[in-house]
Amino acid sequence: MLHKIAIEEHIAVTETFGETEMNQKLILDQMDEYIKEMDTHGVDMMFLSIKNPGTQGIFDKGRSAELAKKANDALAEAIAKRPKRFLGYATLPLQDPDAASAELHRAVKDLGFIGALANGFSQIGTKENCTYYDIPMYRPFWAEVEKLDVPFYLHPRNPLPANSGAYEGHMPWFTRAAWVFGVETATHTLRLMCSGLFDDYPKLKLILGHLGEGLPFLIWRAEHTFTREKRRERDGMPAKRPMPEYMARNIWYTTSGQLHLPSLLQTMLEFGSDRIMFAADCPYETLEEASIWFDSCLISEGDRQKIGRDNIVNLFKLKDI
Ligand code: ZN
Repeated sequence: MLHKIAIEEHIAVTETFGETEMNQKLILDQMDEYIKEMDTHGVDMMFLSIKNPGTQGIFDKGRSAELAKKANDALAEAIAKRPKRFLGYATLPLQDPDAASAELHRAVKDLGFIGALANGFSQIGTKENCTYYDIPMYRPFWAEVEKLDVPFYLHPRNPLPANSGAYEGHMPWFTRAAWVFGVETATHTLRLMCSGLFDDYPKLKLILGHLGEGLPFLIWRAEHTFTREKRRERDGMPAKRPMPEYMARNIWYTTSGQLHLPSLLQTMLEFGSDRIMFAADCPYETLEEASIWFDSCLISEGDRQKIGRDNIVNLFKLKDI
């Protein structure tokens, strides 16, 4: 398919935080490599974010805020040199929700970013800390996300060693995309839904990669169990609506790294082809493999057009592309 847009793609600036010139060269070199692959595989545009874990792993609040600004400025400057081919997600210092709100506002209004991408939970104050975004102190931040009306991409990261007991003896092969990414991100998403976040901010737009991190398959049973004998009410869960309703109203899904037709069809059956978008997950996966699979997988041409481009244009309100 020609004119695809790939929306979960990453660049490395983390290692060079603090050296803006080197960041620029690194970003531009990676962009040039990406452009070659994009031209070969019918991809018009890529949406870029900072590689995992980015600012989420910088537990000093002040330093995280400073580095998020630097990274966003460096990415915006590089995108301005290739504006027809790339757009950017803001990196946010979520250790400090007020600073994250301010930086998102600046990134969207001043730098032209199309939303934010967070690499999972944030470490606040100490490297052992693990803070998820469903807790009350993040509500003002989510209000700002809703007000700006931009999507928030919840991207995976590895759990901390203290939270990896179930994987003992099976590290490192359980790490990253093999297993823990999906479990970690699905759990974080379930926390957001169960906390009533989408009742408080019903217009929030959350994006999950990897065709929903397993949730399209698992959510029926979760909801079935929550509602059995009115367990949700009895157990005091704050969420007011069924989980599948949030997943069909507030969440969108990308094909990143999950090149598997039954998984795609399952997500389409649960939530419809209007909520699914193309992504490759470069550089962890290749644009070549993702494109070859997507261009030929057994879905209708109408659905391919929606997933490969139209849903993205609509969700991100892209103009003049
Ligand atoms: Zn990714």
